[in-house]
Amino acid sequence: MNETVTGYVIKTTEVKDNDVILNVYTKEYGNLSLYARGIKKSTSRNRYACQLFDYSEFLCDLSQMKSMHLMKTATLKKEFMGIRGDYDRLALASVVVELVGYLPDDNVYDLLESTLHRLDVNPEPYMVFNLFLVQFLDVLGLSPEVDGCVLCGNTSAIETISVLDGGFLCRNCNRHRHLKPLDSRFLRRFRIINKASFAVLDKLQGLGLDDYRLSAVLMEFVITHSGLNVISWRSVSGNH
Ligand SMILES: [Zn+2]
Repeated sequence: MNETVTGYVIKTTEVKDNDVILNVYTKEYGNLSLYARGIKKSTSRNRYACQLFDYSEFLCDLSQMKSMHLMKTATLKKEFMGIRGDYDRLALASVVVELVGYLPDDNVYDLLESTLHRLDVNPEPYMVFNLFLVQFLDVLGLSPEVDGCVLCGNTSAIETISVLDGGFLCRNCNRHRHLKPLDSRFLRRFRIINKASFAVLDKLQGLGLDDYRLSAVLMEFVITHSGLNVISWRSVSGNH
């Protein structure tokens, strides 16, 4: 049955000849696999609507019995030039779409949309990425404990973050863990980002949240507790 769906290209996989398998995250159906025939040909009219991060409308033959659907035409609705033209934004957006692709059964369409639109233009791309990670961890039920020590509940003398234990650690509990103490400003920023959302984005500018070190700790939470092997993260972390 022919149907039009609209969504974001979150993965492209080249297959034989000029064909490409697209993973498109749609509002209606979540993550869909579309088989796009011949789109690598220079004469293909669909090729410019099928690149990574493109927001496009796809006419396809949707069959409930199949895990992959044949794409017929694609029409570009929005391309993210800010992401495509900047190394940092591109690398961060690549991690976003890879992570979203791991959650076929959770509805993260709105989160994906909010993140890509802001990564494209916001002057603080790492802050946008950090907000995405905080909400991604929430979807997985893996939010770090930042209201007190994750082991004893003590709200004073917070000394560091234990990824393995799942959040803040106080000085007393860290006597057994021997983790490196972190400076209080960083701990405060880690707490703020974990309490924040895109709804208050404007108020967060200039608070020092556009920080790769926050991303690194949040990604450590994602990788340690989800077990996901996030390949695209290497090109971000390898650059710092
Ligand atoms: Zn403690």
